[in-house]
Amino acid sequence: MSISQEALNVAARVEAFVRETIIPFEQDPRRDHHGAPTDALVMELRELARSAGVLTPHIRSDGSHFNQRETAIILIKSGLTPLGMLACNTQAPDEGNMYLIGKVGHPDLKERFLKPLVEGRARSAFFMTEPADLNGAGADPSMMITTCRKDGNHWVINGKKAFITGADGAKVGIVMAKSEAADSAGGACMFLVELPDPAIRITAVPNTIDSSMPGSHAEITIDDLRVPADQMLGEAGEGFKYAQIRLSPARLSHCMRWLGGCIRAQEIAVDYTNRRMAFGKHLIDHEGVGFMLAENMIDIKQCELMIDWCASILDAGSLGTVESSMTKVAVSEALMRIADKCMQVMGGTGVTDKTIVETIFREVRAFRIYDGPTEVHKWSLAKKLRRDWRSTQ
Ligand SMILES: Cc1cc2nc3c(=O)[nH]c(=O)nc-3n(C[C@H](O)[C@H](O)[C@H](O)COP(=O)(O)OP(=O)(O)OC[C@H]3O[C@@H](n4cnc5c(N)ncnc54)[C@H](O)[C@@H]3O)c2cc1C
Repeated sequence: MSISQEALNVAARVEAFVRETIIPFEQDPRRDHHGAPTDALVMELRELARSAGVLTPHIRSDGSHFNQRETAIILIKSGLTPLGMLACNTQAPDEGNMYLIGKVGHPDLKERFLKPLVEGRARSAFFMTEPADLNGAGADPSMMITTCRKDGNHWVINGKKAFITGADGAKVGIVMAKSEAADSAGGACMFLVELPDPAIRITAVPNTIDSSMPGSHAEITIDDLRVPADQMLGEAGEGFKYAQIRLSPARLSHCMRWLGGCIRAQEIAVDYTNRRMAFGKHLIDHEGVGFMLAENMIDIKQCELMIDWCASILDAGSLGTVESSMTKVAVSEALMRIADKCMQVMGGTGVTDKTIVETIFREVRAFRIYDGPTEVHKWSLAKKLRRDWRSTQ
């Protein structure tokens, strides 16, 4: 699929909005005690995005999505600062959640749960991972210990969750649980729930290396949560299939947004090294520095190409599981190299909060873990190599 002029125009508008209106808010002190922007700040930025016509810019007013290649050029621009994605409502986990509800939800669920998200009036959370000390779902989601059982017209959910981004303050939740039923209702299920709900308790919100996501990453206890049966997302037992529908585009959109962040970090590092002198010349004229920024240039281009390649596979109708694994590994690892080099060439300034480089560095470190750690993707790619080889014998 090609990239339309309409999408190019939207991307240009998003870029101008983020650079001119949102970047000046980077030093705004309104942060919660985990360092994440407060909801008050996010809502103020959203109003600015609404006025500028760039709120939820990857979804058209008729509800249709731009294709993945088009989404890429828009989301990269919204990611030029972490506040940009929040202002434009392209951030995780909402962007992936909107995509999933749009694909799997029936019309009533869309009206009730999707509409407020698309309109930027609510935040959402995706409840899949569980505490490591209970040996729950983590890198291996099939280890899910949260259960659901049918009780008349309701499902009853019990369990514990961990690292649930944005749960604190979210109004919409997608909860995953496993049904032990022996019939077709057995297996992983997904439910849409209104938040807050007294049966979903936040027990802790640990401090983490990243700090850009409102609500941070909560630990949760679910006690006898009763969900009307018609709030099941899709069919019983198909939860992991739907997680897969969400995962490829969601991990690709993380690549898009954080590539935007690293493009900006590179701009800041290039500016710094063109102004700062050492040993009688500008830093960029020292080969050790210039080469690092040149390597970043190459990494950035390779990330763009890989994202565009994976996006075109998804646009062609494939789930893109293999391609999104390859892209997620390649891009998240490259972004880490880029952010690290930007920080290094900026000396002490690079590790301060005077620029966004330090924030980007911390964000992309966490990205090597969520939406599948690098090693898990490589392991599943190696398994594919083994399968393919076997099929030729
Ligand atoms: C910032 C952040 C935000 C998150 N947001 C959400 C969210 O909103 N919702 C949600 O449900 N989850 C969320 N997560 C959870 C995330 O998806 C998990 O952290 C991830 O799946 C890894 O699970 P785990 O932490 O339990 O690690 P573990 O399962 O304990 O794995 C630990 C490490 O073991 C290694 N490993 C595991 N399996 C293999 C293998 N087969 N081969 C080689 N090495 C392996 C990897 O290096 C892995 O990092 C978030 C995590 C972070 C860090």
